[in-house]
Amino acid sequence: MWTHAFESNPSDLEKYYLNVAFPYPSGAMHVGHGRTYIVPDVVARFWRMRQKQVLFPMAFHVTGAPVVGISKRIANKDEKTIRLYRDLYRVPQNILDKFTDPLTIVRHFADEYQRVMTSCGLSIDWRRRFITVDPTYSKFIEWQWKHLYDAGHVIKGAHPVRYCTVDENPVGDHDLLEGDKAEVIKFTLVMFRFGDAFIPCATLRPETIHGVTNLWANPDVTYAKIRLDGKPWIVSKEAAEKLALQDHTVEVTGEIRGSDLVGKKVSHPLCGEVPILPAPFVDPDMASGMVMSVPAHAPFDYIALRDLQQKGQYMEIKPIPLIRVEGYGEIPAQYAVEKAGIQNQMDSRMDALTQEIYSAEFSKGKLFDKYGGKPVRVAREEVAELMQQKYDSVVMYEFDQRPVVCRCGNRVRVKILHDQWFLKYGDPAWKQEVQDHLDTMALVPTEVRTEFDRTIWWLKDWACTRRVGLGTKFPWDPAQLIEPLSDSTVYMAYYTIAHKIREIEPKLLTPEVFDYIFLGKESEDLPEKKKLDAMRKEFLYWYPYDFRFSAKDLISNHLTFQLFHHCTVFAGQKDKLPKGMVVFGMGLLNGAKMSSSKGNVFLLEDAVKEFGGDTVRMFLMGSAEPWQDFDWRNELVLSTKKQIERFYNTVMEIKDAAGEPHDIDRWLKSRLQMHIAKTTEALENFQTRQALQEAYFGIETDLKWYRRRLPKNCDGSRELHDLCSVWVRLLAPFIPFTGEHLWKELAGEGLISFAPWPVADAKLVSPKIELAEELLARTVEDIESIVKLIQLQPKAITIALAPEWKRQIFRTIAKAEDKNTVIKEIMKDESMRKRGKETTDTTKQCTTLIHRLPPHVVAPLVQDPINEKAVFDAAKGFLEHEFGVPVHVVMAEEAGHVKALTALPFKPAIIIE
Ligand SMILES: [Zn+2]
Repeated sequence: MWTHAFESNPSDLEKYYLNVAFPYPSGAMHVGHGRTYIVPDVVARFWRMRQKQVLFPMAFHVTGAPVVGISKRIANKDEKTIRLYRDLYRVPQNILDKFTDPLTIVRHFADEYQRVMTSCGLSIDWRRRFITVDPTYSKFIEWQWKHLYDAGHVIKGAHPVRYCTVDENPVGDHDLLEGDKAEVIKFTLVMFRFGDAFIPCATLRPETIHGVTNLWANPDVTYAKIRLDGKPWIVSKEAAEKLALQDHTVEVTGEIRGSDLVGKKVSHPLCGEVPILPAPFVDPDMASGMVMSVPAHAPFDYIALRDLQQKGQYMEIKPIPLIRVEGYGEIPAQYAVEKAGIQNQMDSRMDALTQEIYSAEFSKGKLFDKYGGKPVRVAREEVAELMQQKYDSVVMYEFDQRPVVCRCGNRVRVKILHDQWFLKYGDPAWKQEVQDHLDTMALVPTEVRTEFDRTIWWLKDWACTRRVGLGTKFPWDPAQLIEPLSDSTVYMAYYTIAHKIREIEPKLLTPEVFDYIFLGKESEDLPEKKKLDAMRKEFLYWYPYDFRFSAKDLISNHLTFQLFHHCTVFAGQKDKLPKGMVVFGMGLLNGAKMSSSKGNVFLLEDAVKEFGGDTVRMFLMGSAEPWQDFDWRNELVLSTKKQIERFYNTVMEIKDAAGEPHDIDRWLKSRLQMHIAKTTEALENFQTRQALQEAYFGIETDLKWYRRRLPKNCDGSRELHDLCSVWVRLLAPFIPFTGEHLWKELAGEGLISFAPWPVADAKLVSPKIELAEELLARTVEDIESIVKLIQLQPKAITIALAPEWKRQIFRTIAKAEDKNTVIKEIMKDESMRKRGKETTDTTKQCTTLIHRLPPHVVAPLVQDPINEKAVFDAAKGFLEHEFGVPVHVVMAEEAGHVKALTALPFKPAIIIE
């Protein structure tokens, strides 16, 4: 019945358009993916029941190199890859044999994704499904890029980029196995003279050259002798490879062992002659593989030197301070290390300490007068400049963290690419446009706003073409392809027409056609005008989208990129720019991060088979709010399954109840209105967990109490049928399969997926009845715990109620603004004064009680107190039945028992005989 139910067309209803970052179908989906698609589905189902016209589309992103790599590895019979696809993803052998063609892989998994998504109950309009290498889609991308190009955002230039030498391709975030947070940093190479040759050391702080006391070389590493642009250098072998990628000609001429360098001297005009010391910690894969040591200002250098000197070596070397920074003593590195009590280089605080000193020196440090006396932030630039002009320094690009590894397993390098095409995200004017729009958007949760702000201003120019992979040809250089993150930024607009544009031949899809559909620009000779008009109508109806959903790791690229692209493609049409985004937390499996490549995943399909689609949905929605991380544990999922069964059984048991309504039915109805209101509010705010708490547990708990309170021989009133109808609808977005089934059982009209969402009826709300019931429930609980404590079978129970004067004290305290002076206020009353200690004791007890009671109880107690006597008199039969003994309800004064004197408002004294 659902097959075509969610196909959504423009109508007279208000629209709600939500979408989610589409998947890259190169393997099977795991339960982490499940949540990404189920959250928007719950939201879609909620708004559909709120009678909006909802569009929830899905497509598949197949652009890029990964799938090409996979097909190659399968063609080469790579055992690891074949195992992954055959054993973990369970691809049948006859299909696996065809995986040597990358398109076969993505088509296979796109079908699989649709099948598994359907088994999860996703209410998707599948007519709009496409893959990003469809010829029509490529035409759309060409149109989008024409606008980017015309706006001056597509440029050609030389830039350092992440690069894989095996794939001979720049590497995008999605192509990385490790190191997606690594940034490219520009280092200055300080050139130390070593005989005829240079030994370069990379630094971010060239001004510290004045404090260099030695170099560090790794004695276990064999260094390379090279000619770099004709000049002799000594660097690590890795560095030689790297420099060759950065606009240098590199010729390897020989080798020299690190141990042979140790003890030798080097010199630089700004620090004179210094020795080379041994240091096993020097990583040949970091920059040049040699390090200059500034022990006065670098904690690592300080400790390394101290370690050697504690063995009695190199005693003549003393740290040379050159920067004064307040609060860090004579020698900042020494000061900080000693203050923190750091014993050795392995101390985990070393990085933080290094960062602290660097920042302090940069923001408020000043060079000594003999080195020019300038602030560090000024001197740094000047010294770097001077070194490049006068002392042979060159620039070297390197990552700020390691390792950075390509999907193919190769180490990623920094290469300077010429004739490389870039999207100019570095352009401040473009950034400002995006920032201005972001400021108007709804972001959920609100905390992500700062992360978006930061990303907009941090983004640098982006290499936007690749030589290898699937995708749309780059219009200004057909030998290249538009890379995956750059062709998936405005496709939310394409969804609105995806099912209709297929009717037009791709070769007719000129930029003018799209200009007409999306921008309303008329031009002559437009083909198939009628079809175009229908598409224009779709676009105008649906766009802009209301909310886009995605995991938080896409903030730093995709989610921000799409804003840049929208701002340009829809320039001047602010009403077509995205309205909101919801950002998800991550998924854990038994406490560890889910990762397909590490095998730590639970496949979504297996989860659905084992537990059922509704269980998977309810567990994922109930275990955390969407933006929180969630942890999949089978034993917890199993208890969710039991909850659904309990829900189903309860509804089946009570739906046909035929009894007369009792007083307790009014209570149940009143409570139900509150649950409706709270569930609705939670879902409006995307709080799926909160909504389930109300809609499932809230109502379940009430029903338990209700059934307990029913008179003997009554299993519920006929009004329960209405409650079931509300309850089933409130849960339908979460457990739609169960929902549809029960909706039939309740004789509901049509599909529950389109049934009207329940609306809270204020006329049915009665705070007084709820309060009375709460008093009773709390008292029952008190009696139960006392009986448990005394471990005796009671003969009779007396409930003694607080006198009016105590209620007066209670109200005075609850109303008082200053709880400290409230006793004075109470003592103004002559009769209170007369009671003396009794009054002060009661004041204290009432103060404690008010703190303990929830606000929704205290407020009505003050405004419109309930008659406790009447409440308990009416419930006498119930209480006697509950405890199986006579129950007496008396005012405390009449009880004739010392315990009765402890009675407080809303907390009667309980005397058990
Ligand atoms: Zn690679």
